[in-house]
Amino acid sequence: MALLRTENLSKSFGAVRALDNASITVDEHALTLIIGPNGSGKSTLINVISGFLKADSGKVVFEGKDITNKSPNEIYSYGIVRTFQTPQPLKEMTVLENLLIAERHVGENIRTALNYKKWLRQEEELVERAYGLLKFLKLDHLWDHKAGSLSGGQMKLLEIGRALMTNPKLIVMDEPIAGVAPGLAHEIFNKLVELKKQGITLLIIEHRLDIVLKYIDYLYVMFNGRVIAEGRGEKEIERVLSDPKVVEVYIGD
Ligand code: ADP
Ligand code: MG
Repeated sequence: MALLRTENLSKSFGAVRALDNASITVDEHALTLIIGPNGSGKSTLINVISGFLKADSGKVVFEGKDITNKSPNEIYSYGIVRTFQTPQPLKEMTVLENLLIAERHVGENIRTALNYKKWLRQEEELVERAYGLLKFLKLDHLWDHKAGSLSGGQMKLLEIGRALMTNPKLIVMDEPIAGVAPGLAHEIFNKLVELKKQGITLLIIEHRLDIVLKYIDYLYVMFNGRVIAEGRGEKEIERVLSDPKVVEVYIGD
């Protein structure tokens, strides 16, 4: 079943058509991957989905509701959370604190995040949940370290933890393993597959197909703002990757 779909999304920056009638469907409880050479419109697509950019035309539909061009906060409240290519933890705060302030109710904006009375009331349950997530991500031994002292791969894991604190239905991720060593990259994708089994839906942009191919359920290829190929399951995905249209856009990339 489709959890999210975009219908003919278009978005231009001046003369650049970053999205050109891009339509995708994201199935519930699946891991959907978007690939494409640099400048294909992948980040623009997820920025429009998550409300960080407004579409010029087209629609975004989540659980049957039209969420096109709603504010990032509103989209977040529907259960869509996104992570960024460059993790954005609060570096002076500890790993645990970074999870605590990410939680939906206290983390909505900085004013409520700083409402300590509210924070304290919810703290015990939150800390328990945050600690459980740190364990799951194998970051628990670092709970009191400053986020700024983590390695690149650990920051990617922390970013996933921050997303999970919001109890999302859909996590949208921009290059979750960029710059991460292969061993840890596989570990991250193994975690994502576990999350999928727990009922979370994943929409991911990633370049390193060699690593992620075996974990994905659905593949989209973008080029020049358009979806140029797509396929579900091992056989179809193989066909997509040997499609001359797809091979051609990757030449020289
Ligand atoms: P990808 O993530 O696939 O590399 P992007 O969505 O970042 O591609 O970019 C698609 C096109 O839109 C590129 O030509 C890029 O230069 C342009 N673009 C993206 N964001 C902006 C922006 N904020 N202002 C102007 N041009 C942009
Ligand atoms: Mg990008």
